[in-house]
Amino acid sequence: MLYRRLKTALRRAAALRAMAAAFRPAPCPGCGGWERETILRRGRDLLVIDVAICRDCGLVHAARALPGAAATDFHCDVYPWLMGWTRQIGRAHV
Ligand SMILES: [Zn+2]
Repeated sequence: MLYRRLKTALRRAAALRAMAAAFRPAPCPGCGGWERETILRRGRDLLVIDVAICRDCGLVHAARALPGAAATDFHCDVYPWLMGWTRQIGRAHV
């Protein structure tokens, strides 16, 4: 039992490390602008999230994101266990 939990934790840490490396700067989702001010940098479980305010439209948003299918994979496969949820998110809901 303990060995299985340790093995699962190590597998998840490796997945998080790989996913953290895939985050890329992203434009403002409101206007597409790149001018922004980072107002918060927060780390959780190997992931660092930058929250920024857009200098063009004022939208507060995540300044880095996963590209394309990696974002879906993250929200379906990683985010639920990262948050301690017992249910998965269906890909149709992402
Ligand atoms: Zn904007």
